[in-house]
Formats: sequence, C-alpha cells, structure tokens
Amino acid sequence: MNCIYQGHCVFPEVVDEGCVAEDRGALKVVASRLRAGWRFLAAAALVAAASYFAGAQPLFSLVLWLVSLLSVILREPSPPRLPETQAEPVQAGEAALPQMEAVLGALDLPVVVIDGDANMLAQNKAAEKAFGSLSPGLHISTRWRSPGILDMIRETIETGEPNQIEHSERLPSERVYIVRSTQVENLANARPRLFLLSFRDVSELRRLDRMRSDFVANASHELRTPLASLRGFIETLQGPARGDPKAQERFLAIMLDQATRMSRLVDDLLSLSRLELKAHIAPDQKVDLVPVLGHVRDSLAPLATDLGVDIRLHLPEGKVEVLGDRDELVQVFENLIENGCKYGQEGKVVDVYLRHGEGVPVEVSVVDHGPGIPVEHVPRLTERFYRVSVADSRSKKGTGLGLAIVKHILTRHRARLIVRSEMGKGTDFTVRF
Ligand code: ADP
Repeated sequence: MNCIYQGHCVFPEVVDEGCVAEDRGALKVVASRLRAGWRFLAAAALVAAASYFAGAQPLFSLVLWLVSLLSVILREPSPPRLPETQAEPVQAGEAALPQMEAVLGALDLPVVVIDGDANMLAQNKAAEKAFGSLSPGLHISTRWRSPGILDMIRETIETGEPNQIEHSERLPSERVYIVRSTQVENLANARPRLFLLSFRDVSELRRLDRMRSDFVANASHELRTPLASLRGFIETLQGPARGDPKAQERFLAIMLDQATRMSRLVDDLLSLSRLELKAHIAPDQKVDLVPVLGHVRDSLAPLATDLGVDIRLHLPEGKVEVLGDRDELVQVFENLIENGCKYGQEGKVVDVYLRHGEGVPVEVSVVDHGPGIPVEHVPRLTERFYRVSVADSRSKKGTGLGLAIVKHILTRHRARLIVRSEMGKGTDFTVRF
C-alpha cells in the first residue's frame, strides 16, 4: 500500500492501513492482498476445477488459476477511503481559517486566532491596528507576557471553557482591555483546534467611571469645607462668643459668605446636571449675539467696577445670529467675562470681540491682559473642579465648575472653545460657532 498521509498521519485507522505499510515485509503485503482477494481466488479455483472436470487439460486449469492468483497479488491497490465523519475534522481547522479571517476582518473588535498550543495563527485588521502586526506561528507569549493572559489561555485550551480578564497596556498609550479567550465551538474536533482571543477596549468606560467617582468626591469635599466652617462658627457662637457682639457680627458675616459659596456650588452642580440631560438635543433658536453681549456686560458691570476692570465690547454693525439657546449663551459669556475680570484684574481691561463674515465662522473672543495661564494647565481647564490655584479661585468666589459648564453648553451648540494664553500678557478665550 502507498502511504498517502506521510508526515500528516492523523487518524490511527489510516496509519494502520497506509503509512506503516511501507515498513511491513513483502510477505505481509502479499498476505494482506490475498486476504483482500480471497473471493476472486475462490471463484477462479471453481472455474479451473470446472474446466478440468469438463475435460480440459490439467495444465490449462492450473495456468488459469495461477494467472488469477498473480493478478490478485500484483493488483494496484485503490487508496484507502477515509471515513467521512473523520475526514471533516482534519480539514475543519485549516479550511475554516481563511473564512474565519474574512469574517473577523469585518469586526472592529481586535481578535487574534490561536491554536491548541497557543501559537498565533491570524489576527484581524482591528488587532493589527491596536497591537501591530503579529507573526503567525509564534507563541502568544511573544506578544503578551502577562501571566494573567497566559494562564487564562492555558485554562481555556485545557477545559474548552471561555474565560476573561481585565488587562492594561501601557504602550503606545495607556489602554484597558477585557481580554476573552474562547474555543471556536462548532470546530471543537478540528485539527488544529482554534481559539479566539478578543480584546474589548474599556479605557473610555474606566475613564468615565474614574471621572464620576472623582466628581462625587470633589463635590462632597467642596460642600464639606463650608459646612465644617459653618458648624465651627455655630459652636463658637453658642460657646465662647456667646456674649461677644463684635465677634458674633464678624462670624455671622463669614457664615453668610460660606452659605453663599455652598449655594453657588449647588447652583453650578444643578446647571451641569441639567446640561447633561439635554446634551444630545441641539438648540434651534436664532439668537442675536449683539444684544446678548450687551446684556452680559451690563450684568457684570457692578463686579467689574468693584475689581476696577473696564469691559470693552467690539461689536460689528447689525445682527450676528447663531442657532442657540439664549440663556445658555448668556451663561457662557458671563463665565468667560467674569473670569477675565477676576483672574485678569491686573490688566484693568477685558476686551470682547465679536467677529463674523462671509464663509468664516462666527467668533466671540474674550481677551484679558492679566498674568496668563501656564501652558500645562490649559488642556485641563474645562475639567470639573480643575483650578490653576485652588486658593486663588476660592478667594475669587470660584467653584471650579465655570469652564466645565461653558464646555458643556458649547458642545450642545456644536461650538468650540479655543484658549490661547501667554504668561505675563494675558489670555484669550475664543468661542467659535
Ligand atoms: P472658577 O470657578 O475657579 O473660576 P472656572 O472653571 O471658571 O472655575 O476656571 C477654572 C480655572 O481656570 C480657574 O480657577 C482659574 O485658575 C483659571 N482661569 C480661568 N479663566 C482665567 C483667566 N482669564 N485668566 C487666568 N486664569 C483663568
């Protein structure tokens, strides 16, 4: 017999019939062919005997039977047929791979295909984008050394059960993945066995979780400080300062200040949560920015006068309309101009420019001539409770939420906030619609 699966003999049955046959002696081969052709030989013997009894030459009958015998021994064997149920798994693993690659290629989830020895066989485009090109045939540990991932894969290969773990990568950027290993179920008997490793990127979810818990912690902290101070003064008024009208007056003034701070904070928190609720609804009123800016300047005039700052408006003739929500736009410019007055107080002037024109976006720039903002702080200014100097912000009655509110409103208005600042020269907050 010929060895048809040399080097790839997978099934014991095939090995018995084919591959090992080469090592058998010629006698064994002859014996096996005689076994296979015994019916034909018996028939030939009957024909020979019949011809002898019918009067033929004994030599003729003998030659007839010998020819039949030789034809059985020398016949070319037909290749052994693989049992159909077993032929399928041999091909399943390998044959399924290109098809699987095509399907996985359409997924935006990074997926790597590995075999039962944890060698990488293929990766989809999303995996190539996330982890670079992986070399097929190499063990998975050449790319992922994390003991967590390797143990998980080992367990899935051993048990066939899916597993998942959380895994973070530091390079090229900090990312958190839920990595899942699973056996390709309907190819469970395939050779090679195929397993999928999928990587669900949860970095954004984790970031939002962290932001939310930071926010709750910050909000509680911001409220606790004035509350603690109020409590302290109440105790002092009940105790040591009970009969001291001067101290009482002073303490009550501070208490009013703290209570006002708390109510500002609660107002800002409510503003933020209201904005979050309607974040996906784009405003559709036509708002003329010229009267809006005039109104904001007038409402901030007392504060500007107290701080010794002059708010100068540079407005074009006529209307400058944008789609928006008037009250929210008032809130945006109030925050920006108030910040300009508070933090740029030493520049004495806050300039407000309204620009528009054919084919150019409408822009409002609030420019102060104060100390400026160090460049490393600029990208974080719109984070909730982020302040360049907490003490400075508190002394200026800030909550650390003003620019976060501005950002929320502008996002809803499909507008951008551009911050340019130069130390010693001042800061320019531009809203581009
Ligand atoms: P706050 O309530 O503290 O004013 P904001 O969110 O409005 O909070 O501003 C965040 C921080 O950004 C401020 O605490 C301040 O440090 C800085 N900042 C904002 N506007 C200016 C400005 N025009 N000049 C300098 N620093 C500013």
